[in-house]
This record gives sequence, C-alpha cells and structure tokens, in this order.
Amino acid sequence: MEVILSEYLGFCYGVKRAIKLAEEHADGKSWTLGPIIHNPQMVERLQAEGVGTVTDLTALEEGTIIIRSHGVGPQVYKEAQAKGLKIVDATCPHVKKAQMSAKELSEDGRQVVIVGEKNHPEVKSIFEWSNKQAIILETEADAENFAPRSKLGIISQTTVSGENFVKIVAHLLEKSHDIRILRTICTATEQRQKAALELAGQVDVMLVIGGRNSANTTRLAQLCEKKCRTYHIETATELSPVWLENANKVGITAGASTPDWIIGEVYKKCQRI
Ligand code: SF4
Repeated sequence: MEVILSEYLGFCYGVKRAIKLAEEHADGKSWTLGPIIHNPQMVERLQAEGVGTVTDLTALEEGTIIIRSHGVGPQVYKEAQAKGLKIVDATCPHVKKAQMSAKELSEDGRQVVIVGEKNHPEVKSIFEWSNKQAIILETEADAENFAPRSKLGIISQTTVSGENFVKIVAHLLEKSHDIRILRTICTATEQRQKAALELAGQVDVMLVIGGRNSANTTRLAQLCEKKCRTYHIETATELSPVWLENANKVGITAGASTPDWIIGEVYKKCQRI
C-alpha cells in the first residue's frame, strides 16, 4: 500500500506564527483568548508549557493576553489596555488585512458584506471592525435574498472557497451600482484545498487530519469526499486498519491547524498497516 502526503498540508504561516509567539511567552502568566488553534492536542501541549486559555478577560488582573490568529474586535484591545495587560497580537496578517478592509469600507459609508460563516470566530472579529454593521452571507440563497444597497463593500473570510466567493459576488453585482470588492481569501487555504482534491482523485482512501472543531479541516474532508472514501480523524489512534483494507493508495492531508507531529504519527501508522 502506497501512502502519499498532500503537497500542501498542516500548519499555515499564520498558525506557525501564532504558536511561535505563544511559546515565546510560555511563562505561566500568559493566556490565549480562546484556544490558540482549533486543535485540542496543541492546546494541551501549550498548557503544559505554561500558556493557559481564557474565554474572556474578566478574571485576568495581570499577565499577558495572547490574541490568536483569528483576531478580535477593537473592544478587546481597549479592555486589555484598560486592565494593564500585556498584549501579544498573534492575529494572522491576512486576517488583519480583512479586518482593516472592513473598517475602511465601513468608514467609506458602504454596507459591508462579509462572505463567510456566521459563527466563525474570524468572521466575528472582522464584523467587529466593520463598526458592527456588516452583513454576513454564507450561501448563494443569502445573496439572492439580499436587498439592494446604494454602496456596497464586499470582503471574505480568509478560508472561504474561491468558487463560493465568486458565486456569491455574482449575485451581489446585481444589488448595487457602486461596489468595492476586496478579495481577502488566503492562498494557504486554497493551496491546501487544491492539493487535497488533486490527491483525492488519485487514491482509494483519503485521511483528513485535524480538529473536529476546525472549519478548514472539515472543508478539506467535504472536498475529498467528492472524489473518494474519506475519513476525518483528529489523531492516529482514531485510524482503523479496516478502513484501509483493499486500498492500494492512501492519501493524507491535514488542516491548517494540525501539528506536524500528529501528521507524522498517522503517516507511520498507515505504513505499518
Ligand atoms: S489559513 Fe491563512 S489566514 Fe488563516 S491563519 Fe493560516 S495563513 Fe492566516
């Protein structure tokens, strides 16, 4: 049985940067605001190294607050500053660009539209920077039902698929005569999706590794399912040898928040089967 790793998989630039910043501040007095990435194993590891997790700033009176790669709204910076906390900003520069685009479009008097998932923390943070006025569209149906506006400003969640973005924008083009479109999709996501789809078309089984709460990992699994039998797992222990019976080729991909050591364990287990 041949085991093939996708050309692009695992940690992206923004996540690597966030983990590095968190590790540099592992002093027992640092906390990330929400889990640093959507990967429980990595969160546990950081906890053991001295970086805890808090859900909000209420209980913190001192120490360092680490803003994760998804970013937060302006209010959180103000609150942290008012409490005298040290801020380590690990917001991914691509997310920062989307946030600043939301701010700019809103200040330009446009109705801001974010193409993305309503409940995703990154989208929530971008929304906050739009002066909390953005409208979030997830589907083509949402865009079809969108009421016409005089001035529109369209941006995207960084992990949205390019295909979906174009489809939604096509509907919105009919809704205003004055539209600015800032395509804030991150290439890391597209690279991983493209490479995974290509590999899924060449193998019998795909293994997609990553947290179940990771939107980009779930999206990778959905794409691969279109091409071959696909299993979404968090770690090597979940991998059942039965899945690989009669498979000549097995492909492996992993979400942008999946650590290398977990990918390595799955790869080695496949080779042993
Ligand atoms: S997927 Fe892209 S936008 Fe998101 S953290 Fe990674 S590099 Fe940044």
